[in-house]
Amino acid sequence: MRKDVRILLVGEPKVGKTSLIMSLVSEEFPDEVPLRAEEITIPADVTPERVPTHIVDYSEAEQSDEQLYQEISKANVICIVYSVNNKKSIEKVTSHWIPLINERTDKDSRVPLILVGNKSDLVEHSSMETILPIMNQYSEIETCVECSAKNLKNISELFYYAQKAVLHPTGPLYSPEEKEMKPSCIKALTRIFKISDLDNDGILNDNELNFFQRTCFNIPLAPQALEDVKNVVRKNMSDGVKDNGLTLKGFLFLHTLFIQRGRHETTWTVLRRFGYDDDLELTQEYLFPLLKIPPDCTTELNHNAYLFLQSVFDKHDKDRDCALSPDELKDLFKVFPYMPWGPDVNNTVCTNEQGWITYQGYLSQWTLTTYLDVQRCLEYLGYLGYSIIQEQESQAAAITITRNKRIDLQKKQTQRSVFRCNVLGARGCGKSGFLQASLGRNLARQKRIREDHKSYYAISTTYVYGQEKYLLLHEVLPDFEFLSEADLACDVVCLVYDISNPRSFEYCAKVYKKHFLDSKTPCVIIAAKSDLHEARQYYSLSPLDFCRKHKLHPPQMFTCNTPEAPSKDIYTKLTTMAMYPHAKLRCMCSCNRCTYCICHNLLNSELVRSVKAKFCSAVLNRHMTQADLKNSTFWLRASVGATVFAVLGFAMYKALLKQR
Ligand code: GDP
Ligand code: MG
Repeated sequence: MRKDVRILLVGEPKVGKTSLIMSLVSEEFPDEVPLRAEEITIPADVTPERVPTHIVDYSEAEQSDEQLYQEISKANVICIVYSVNNKKSIEKVTSHWIPLINERTDKDSRVPLILVGNKSDLVEHSSMETILPIMNQYSEIETCVECSAKNLKNISELFYYAQKAVLHPTGPLYSPEEKEMKPSCIKALTRIFKISDLDNDGILNDNELNFFQRTCFNIPLAPQALEDVKNVVRKNMSDGVKDNGLTLKGFLFLHTLFIQRGRHETTWTVLRRFGYDDDLELTQEYLFPLLKIPPDCTTELNHNAYLFLQSVFDKHDKDRDCALSPDELKDLFKVFPYMPWGPDVNNTVCTNEQGWITYQGYLSQWTLTTYLDVQRCLEYLGYLGYSIIQEQESQAAAITITRNKRIDLQKKQTQRSVFRCNVLGARGCGKSGFLQASLGRNLARQKRIREDHKSYYAISTTYVYGQEKYLLLHEVLPDFEFLSEADLACDVVCLVYDISNPRSFEYCAKVYKKHFLDSKTPCVIIAAKSDLHEARQYYSLSPLDFCRKHKLHPPQMFTCNTPEAPSKDIYTKLTTMAMYPHAKLRCMCSCNRCTYCICHNLLNSELVRSVKAKFCSAVLNRHMTQADLKNSTFWLRASVGATVFAVLGFAMYKALLKQR
């Protein structure tokens, strides 16, 4: 809404412009007035709409045409004053004043006009008969009013209408020629209806109506008022009320009625509450609330936001199959001005057998958007009406900004739940297959993906020590020369080579030596297509020797050419490494014989969980000292986050005791 209102009075000399202004201010009729009143400003708190209002007089005798034109272009609303007992002053409204004003304003942004018939105390009859045809002819005329500066009739009303014409313009809402709401207004109200229809049954029931009323007007509707509203609709149309609730048709009818009865501020209140501006576009402030993301921090959705998104999903999953069919998805995005998800999303997240996005997939895609492009996430939540339904200040309340990653590294623990893994490797080495396998798709299933529906991201959940985490995989284009900072920044890196292609490992070795030799980011070498015959790599070191030399885990055998869904183990391991980048000891060979494996398995066993519950970390730490393993580099390297450290310590202590 505007911050202030500027009202200009024009008209023939002696029609009473100056007297009207003076009467308003002094609340009595001045016998003598100057040619032109000084500009006055009415403070916000004494005006009905609580906005400062400037009132500007005009006098032909005192002002040049140039000055008049300037005032016209500055005005937010213009009152054309005539005198009801002066025919010539009425004629001049159409022959002089309206054309003069229209010439100086844009056709698309016409300033609203109010026709003011002054000196009504002097005549018995009304001038309305002459005025109504003029009103019908010019849509920029908001309203007309007859008044008298002398007996103070309709003076405050006149200025109230002028204020209202600026603050709650009819133009964008209603077409007087067609006598119906404009399409953009219908579109906005339809979106509002859909958001307010919490159970998505096409009807606003009493609960939903009450919520709507409370959100828009801050007061609940009395039960009788609710019935009255429905009765008005019932009386006027057959399908406006259904199952004792308001249908979209009834809802739109009510608003048409408000507007036709001059109560369009009601409709405006609703529109503004849902984020619309005067042009019926969602405002930038609504869609993009301020959210500062410091460097080295990531963005995630908080618990509340997930609950909200879950309710949106439930509301649209009509057949309750925990997946969104194309129709259900389309319905979900009807409150958006465009379809935000393309077919690539189906290849970014988990889908069901039909290829439809599942509940997990849906939440994953939201998580991905929040992580990669939080502004877009805010925008999307805005379309869904997050702040209104959740009664929050703005969509920013849905976002958790994680702690600076450097502090996480220092403290060796993290509260984050989304971890990014960049996947690098030569062309054709199996990166896409590696991404798709994380979504449970084997090679046969992957072959059905169309080239133009391909995604360079894949996101799904894994469990690390009982906690649900998101692993976001990103396939980096293999152009070695063009690897940017962004291509390299992540929580864990996969360097993929194709065991059947002797020239593919060299790329991994080169990328590792150039970018990750001294980097803190943990790296894993993936030996992809392990179902094929292994070729000897053309490189000075074998992949295994390369890993030994650089203290990396041995290459991880991986294939997605499996009859069923490929194994998820590698993704859990990657997430664990991303969460605990210091824990270089975590074994990935799964031999169950080496200390790493025993320790890893113990960590996951029921035994450790019960131990963890019984002993506080102090006790566990003492065990460690007793074991006198201080000098072991093994211990030093085992320094993970505080709790994990303690549990791990005890687990390893027991494992070592056994060995003795
Ligand atoms: P302006 O030139 O349009 O600013 O008109 P003025 O305010 O100077 O008024 C012109 C004359 O009309 C003055 O003599 C006023 O006293 C008189 N006048 C203004 N308003 C009214 C009204 O409502 N009723 C009557 N009877 N006279 C009015
Ligand atoms: Mg005057």
